[in-house]
Amino acid sequence: MSNPFLSPSTLPYQLPPFADIAVEHYAPAITRGMAEQRAEIDAITAQPDEATFENTMVPLERSGQTLTRVLRVFFNQSSADSTDEVAAIEEEFAPQLAAHEDAIELDGALYASIRHVHERRDALDDEQRYLVERRFTRMTLAGAGLDAEQKARLTELNQRLSVLQTKFEKNLLADTNDLAVVIDSVDELDGLSEGEISAAAQAASDRGLEGKHLITLVLPTGHPVLESLTNREVRERIMRASRQRAARGNQHDNSAVLLEIVRLRARRAELLGFASHADFITADQTAKTPQRVAAMLEPLAQAAARNARAEKQKLEQLAGHPIEAHDWAFYSEKVRKAEFDVDTSELKPYFEAERVLQQGVFAAATQVYGITFSERHDLQGYTEGVRVFEVRNEDGSELGLYLLDLYTRDTKRGGAWMNELIGQNELLDHPTIVVNNLNVSKPAAGEPTLLTFDEVNTFFHEFGHALHGLFAHVVYPSFTGTNVYRDFVEFPSQVNEMWMLWPEIVNDYAVHHQTGEPIDAGIIDRIRASQTWGEGFATSEYLAAALLDQAWHRLSSAEADAVTDVAAFEREALAAVGLDDPAVPTRYSSCYFAHTFSGGYSAGYYSYIWSEVLDADTVQWFEQNGGLTRENGDRFRQYVLGIGGKQDPLEAYRAFRGRDAVIEPLLERRGLAA
Ligand SMILES: [Zn+2]
Repeated sequence: MSNPFLSPSTLPYQLPPFADIAVEHYAPAITRGMAEQRAEIDAITAQPDEATFENTMVPLERSGQTLTRVLRVFFNQSSADSTDEVAAIEEEFAPQLAAHEDAIELDGALYASIRHVHERRDALDDEQRYLVERRFTRMTLAGAGLDAEQKARLTELNQRLSVLQTKFEKNLLADTNDLAVVIDSVDELDGLSEGEISAAAQAASDRGLEGKHLITLVLPTGHPVLESLTNREVRERIMRASRQRAARGNQHDNSAVLLEIVRLRARRAELLGFASHADFITADQTAKTPQRVAAMLEPLAQAAARNARAEKQKLEQLAGHPIEAHDWAFYSEKVRKAEFDVDTSELKPYFEAERVLQQGVFAAATQVYGITFSERHDLQGYTEGVRVFEVRNEDGSELGLYLLDLYTRDTKRGGAWMNELIGQNELLDHPTIVVNNLNVSKPAAGEPTLLTFDEVNTFFHEFGHALHGLFAHVVYPSFTGTNVYRDFVEFPSQVNEMWMLWPEIVNDYAVHHQTGEPIDAGIIDRIRASQTWGEGFATSEYLAAALLDQAWHRLSSAEADAVTDVAAFEREALAAVGLDDPAVPTRYSSCYFAHTFSGGYSAGYYSYIWSEVLDADTVQWFEQNGGLTRENGDRFRQYVLGIGGKQDPLEAYRAFRGRDAVIEPLLERRGLAA
């Protein structure tokens, strides 16, 4: 039988033929896909003619179709429905795929051709010019423009950095395990739920500590149990353990590791022509420079610190003693319960999944954008229970397919996400197929699926990514769907969350699944009011981490060489932005800041709030312009969602809003306005 990945699908919307796809098709299709793309790239650089957009960029955009086709289906399965066999293929091919991509990004001949086109880009149309600019920037940042000796130096730096990043993570894991807090008497856990106590007993017995309880640490500084533990001494022990991680001077100490990471990243940036690692990273983000990141974050930091101080006063009145870091969550929760009286668990009977989908998520999109949804029972998803919906524009024209995979299962990774099975572009005449994955527990047979408040919010959020994928209309595959900068990609999904509690929408979908009674409007108001409580603390601890990440990565290599004391550097960096109240510790301290020292968020941890500034500014625009109307939806679609990655996002935003985004709406939303 032939391999279904070797030619485009003939099903509607080129839906992958899941009935014909078997695990054994992956490896040969991936191998062949890489070879095909390599040959396609070589053919571009072998041609004798002068490099032009038509003979360089177009074939580059056309290249790798087999590989893209198989990898999209493969990675969809490896995240949503993996097996040992699939995991083994992933492990086998990960280094080969990385090497394949690196070879293209660092291809000197290809880079020379693109540079030639880049120098003559003024004659191109807007989308073409932006495509050349993005590709040229990407390859320049990867090091394609370096000479052989510099490339060798770059490879050396990258390899050493990858060793150090792995070491950072291993040290952190080991010390996190070592620092788990052993509780001798169950009385000390007063305030925790039965479930939390039995989980702590299980954790202890897993380590051979029969009869005791164990609180294992979580990644951030704060720990969920701190909200409810009544024993102050135990809270203090947990907080102290959390903050000591990988900074105790033992064999798992990360200080020397992170100092070397900071120095090598600064050297690499200089090799590539940048003043610092933060300059290097932001060059290919919407922010563009660390100065612009600072200009947005620092005023937010002042407002957040001011509010955290006001919150602390309130907590101290209630507690009758000075509030320390380990007291904050405990008293903050008391205030929340006393003042807002919201128990989100009582909302569940009002959030029946099918009604949330049809009358909530879909209905909001129909009212805002005019699009409609119809289930295609004749089309098969990638595993049982995956639903397929056809999405059409208001005029009836086809927009794409939306696949929904709601429930959790053993073969699905945690969390919720959106991915694309095929991405719209005119060059290859591709339609769009997007997938939303959630991890909702499946109810017993015959019982309705009831969602939590957070799950409903996640549903609207992920559907915002789906809309972004469905609406993007571009010529070139590189710009398809949500292929935008990391500090921009969360913006459309955050905006879509606004409809969850929008009166016309929530009144329609939040109906008691047994009595049919609509939800009490008073509860929704109290939820809204309660959402600003605690934001002084939450915003401060987040911004402290984001600014700390920037501070480490704005150093030149000479400056980085001069830093020897991690704790002192951290103290000074936080004091410089006014986020140095010991009762409000940074969400991650340097020695356990995995996002920035071992993960992919170095000099980029600011992204979350960067896109939320745009989000809050957009929600305000909707509110000021009549809210849920077709006109508003069309404008947002035309200027922002519909452009995919084909235009500079901040330029597009300016065109949409009539000005750049400002921070005031976010301050207001978080209750931080002066
Ligand atoms: Zn998201």
